[in-house]
Amino acid sequence: MEQDPKVKAAVEELVIANHILYDQNAVDGYGHISVRNPNNPNTFFLARSVAPSVVKVEDIMEFDMNGKALNGDTRVAYGERFIHSGILKNRPDINSVIHGHAAPILPYGLTGTTLKPVYHMSSFLGEGVPIFEIRNFAKPNPDTDMFISNMDLGNALSQTMGLQYFVLMRGHGYAAGADSIKKAVFRAVYAIQNASIQSEAMKMGQVQYLTPGEASISQETIEKTIGRPWQLWSERVKKLQ
Ligand SMILES: [Zn+2]
Repeated sequence: MEQDPKVKAAVEELVIANHILYDQNAVDGYGHISVRNPNNPNTFFLARSVAPSVVKVEDIMEFDMNGKALNGDTRVAYGERFIHSGILKNRPDINSVIHGHAAPILPYGLTGTTLKPVYHMSSFLGEGVPIFEIRNFAKPNPDTDMFISNMDLGNALSQTMGLQYFVLMRGHGYAAGADSIKKAVFRAVYAIQNASIQSEAMKMGQVQYLTPGEASISQETIEKTIGRPWQLWSERVKKLQ
């Protein structure tokens, strides 16, 4: 691994993010987070195939935008690294991608009920989250193992995500993206909380969602403050070690 200070800082933050995502129930034994190389927009960092809660600096690998491991690294990589290469390749505005299977968001990928922002914390969900239907892209047979296991599926997932920051994968999970690790973690955590609140509210009656105007204005305000929960979450996981 390069010892460049920017790379070192990004990799160290990536390790903390792995632990936070587990502690905040955004991932479990499965799930992962990547970050674009701050010195080279055409490569990214992602852990080798281990559970997020145990990721260490030495587990981080570097990949190109086709999901190929670099630096002669032959360790086993996540089979779904193409989620990261697909989104990072197609979205220059996104520098960090998270993938997980958090239970509260799953029903929204299954039912056609749109995941929409119910409060200011998740205003980045905009006018509603798109759903990736793997059957539409799997070749030659629509039946698959549901995994984003090659670059064609990674590109298709990114196209379904469009210009949004969150996408659901039917019968599988979610992918979240942002321009920084901290913001990607913030978005994954609050998208999942939004799903729990929306599901509860729908049981009670008609749900009032944020209007597109409210979503856009509150996103600008709230995302200036993401350092605050990051401090809380990172101090918590450091104490747990
Ligand atoms: Zn997955």
